[in-house]
Amino acid sequence: MVNSDKDLSEEDDYVPYIPVKYRKIEKMKKLKNSILAAKIKCEAENLSSNEEESIENDNFLSRDMEIKEKTNTDINKEINNMLLQEEQDTLLDFYERKPVSLLDQHSELKKKAEEQKETAKEKQLKEEEKILQSIAGRKALLSVGELARGIQYTEPIKTSWTVPKCISNMGEGRHERVRKKYQILVDGVDIPPPIKRFEDMKFPDAILKALKSKGIKDPTPIQMQGMPAVLSGRDIIGIAFTGSGKTLVFTLPILIFALEQEIKLPFEPYEGPYGLIVCPSRELARQTYQILNYYAGYLKEDGYPEIRIGLFIGGMPFKEQLAVIHKGVHIVVATPGRLMMMLGEKMVNLEVCRYLCLDEADRMVDMGFEEDVRTIISFFRGQRQTLLFSATMPLKIQNFAKSALVLPILINVGRAGAAALNVKQDVEYVKPEARVVCLLDTLQKSPPPVLIFAERKQDVDAIHEYLLLKGVEAVAIHGGKDQEERTRAVDSFVSGEKDVLVATDVASKGLDFPNIQHVVNFDMPDDIENYVHRIGRTGRSGKAGMSTTYINKSSDDSVLMDLKHLLLEAKQDVPPILITLTADKDQLVEIDGDRGCAYCGGLGHRITDCPKLEAMQTKQASNIGRKDYLAHGGADY
Ligand code: ADP
Ligand code: MG
Repeated sequence: MVNSDKDLSEEDDYVPYIPVKYRKIEKMKKLKNSILAAKIKCEAENLSSNEEESIENDNFLSRDMEIKEKTNTDINKEINNMLLQEEQDTLLDFYERKPVSLLDQHSELKKKAEEQKETAKEKQLKEEEKILQSIAGRKALLSVGELARGIQYTEPIKTSWTVPKCISNMGEGRHERVRKKYQILVDGVDIPPPIKRFEDMKFPDAILKALKSKGIKDPTPIQMQGMPAVLSGRDIIGIAFTGSGKTLVFTLPILIFALEQEIKLPFEPYEGPYGLIVCPSRELARQTYQILNYYAGYLKEDGYPEIRIGLFIGGMPFKEQLAVIHKGVHIVVATPGRLMMMLGEKMVNLEVCRYLCLDEADRMVDMGFEEDVRTIISFFRGQRQTLLFSATMPLKIQNFAKSALVLPILINVGRAGAAALNVKQDVEYVKPEARVVCLLDTLQKSPPPVLIFAERKQDVDAIHEYLLLKGVEAVAIHGGKDQEERTRAVDSFVSGEKDVLVATDVASKGLDFPNIQHVVNFDMPDDIENYVHRIGRTGRSGKAGMSTTYINKSSDDSVLMDLKHLLLEAKQDVPPILITLTADKDQLVEIDGDRGCAYCGGLGHRITDCPKLEAMQTKQASNIGRKDYLAHGGADY
């Protein structure tokens, strides 16, 4: 004990606590004595001055005693009164407090805590409001020309298509019931009714035949509501689960419109395109192109004029692309980079283009194509019909799109960004260095075909090499491989020749591989939307699927939070490790039933902590002064 001396001395100085009540009594006693002394003195003086002559010694003494006694009883009375008062106060206090039970006290405290929380909530909401205002409207998707001329279209484009009488006559009540039954949420004015049969959408027989031969009988919910809207010429924002059939919502109407134009007045050389579909990746563009060609083939077979479709993507010789332009092209499917280049070089123009579709629009913004899309739009002349599609449609796109769409109809099937519910999602904790070896076990979980996603190209190559060494029939694609190799890999995987496709996120958006059994995430993507897109490659058109995701310490905290809430929403098991990793961050994720982030749609955080918004703002700041976008290399076109 080093400080024992000090301790002892401190103990010696120790003054015990004396309750106020006793301190008061002590004080009163002291006061009593001093008053007594003063009174005696005073009386004695009086006595000596007034009755000086008549006083005798013993007399004086007896008087002194008398005074002392008298004063004493007075003061005692006073003290007793005070003590009585004190006691009464204490008693009163006790009785007054008595009706406040523990339960009442608890609820009182709770109320106070609520109030505090309320203010925290209000503060949060206020802050969010501010952020939302600052990003709203800033990104108007208007063409430069339209902006310059101040053109604002207020009426949707007119088409010759009308809702069949038998359906419009059924009344709004029926339309509401159908929407409710299929969980179709709509927003907008003059919304056409949902139609439950392809036959009622007035498609030519050739299209119905083509659908049938693909095994497509009835429209999916997004098709029920989306197709009538698009066919009536309306601008739409379409949000639906991955694999819910969004592609047909924009491909079939554009084929019909192009056909109508061609029948009215055949396309001349170098004329067109009439319709433009922009996709964020080459593979997705190619797939959409193939779908268009499939249906156009059926039309041609049935005696309709030929609909020519162009595929403008990077990594392809210009010769083919120029050849189709030379003949006059009805529809172009493109990635932003190649299209911008061709527009810039005047190889193609958008003078007669009246139909623009941005597929996977949110990915487009995430991948930094926003500025590119704006440039592309600046090449339009005249009004167009604009369609935006995505599985996830956070606020960033809605703002981005609002001013460019004319009386848009927002169609939302299921929550934007929700994972497809028929995918069983496993999450496993695997250390970074153990992942490659773990893959073989994971692959045992399901029959082929299996898709493996990794963020980095090096990882894709490493996994590919490892699987080949172990005798697994695997192919790989990423942005660093040339287009021919990419196409060959995808084709061999789609045809079933290869069992496993290892890929970066070039394959995560919109690609529709048939019957994928299992999606493996070698790493957790940096943002939750990407995760939704990745696992959305399985469990398509109502089939069951599964996904396995490796997480570890290097996974981003915020995305793990989003993942946890996504799993909870999809009623999946949340692994204990995920609960522990995110245990302290659960507050204020939901306010008044409004969950997650308004900007990116992630469920595990609010807009105030949105990593994407932050990244976007940083990027914008670094983009200031960037003019030469036509020349920039871009990521993956
Ligand atoms: P999304 O773009 O919504 O992710 P896709 O348009 O790629 O989905 O469609 C996914 C799969 O569903 C495709 O294979 C497509 O042929 C199929 N499909 C589309 N519409 C229907 C339908 N009405 N009924 C059955 N299958 C459909
Ligand atoms: Mg799609």
